[in-house]
Amino acid sequence: MKIQNKSKWDTDELRDFFRLVFKKEGISPKRYNITVMNTRFPRKDCCTGCAYLHSKTLTIRLPTMERVMGSDGFSRCVDSEVMPIPKTVAQALAHEIHHTIGYQHREMIKSEDILTPENLPVIHKKKRKINPKRNFVKERYEHAKKKLLEWQRKETRAMKLRKKWAKKVGYYEKKGT
Ligand SMILES: [Zn+2]
Repeated sequence: MKIQNKSKWDTDELRDFFRLVFKKEGISPKRYNITVMNTRFPRKDCCTGCAYLHSKTLTIRLPTMERVMGSDGFSRCVDSEVMPIPKTVAQALAHEIHHTIGYQHREMIKSEDILTPENLPVIHKKKRKINPKRNFVKERYEHAKKKLLEWQRKETRAMKLRKKWAKKVGYYEKKGT
């Protein structure tokens, strides 16, 4: 299973989750190419997907926001630390897997209880790569040292060449040309 992950969720955790769904559906995830993206509807906690019939290629768009009930009685979507509605995601993935093995909508049976609450995974956000703090002053110092060495070498070489040509000029001048 190859995952191209453009979503905000952790790739390794998604892979384990997807494997679980494939297993539940009794289908091997081998040679599947899965593109994972963020949902087009960030204000909704929904999951959509698309797949080609008789293929090993599918795309799944994952929810990014979590719906919570505010104290004012209105629900709203907020940024979520863990992937919301994994059950819905599992169902959406199962649906797309069914397309890849050739099922069209009229032939499909909805995968109701694809995963039980106990084996619903927790998917976290991708870990941010920690950029080691760059020391720009030190970097510029090192760069300046390198440049100095470079021009010292050029200076030495220029001095040698100047001497060489001065000697030649001296030689011809002595000959009285
Ligand atoms: Zn469909």
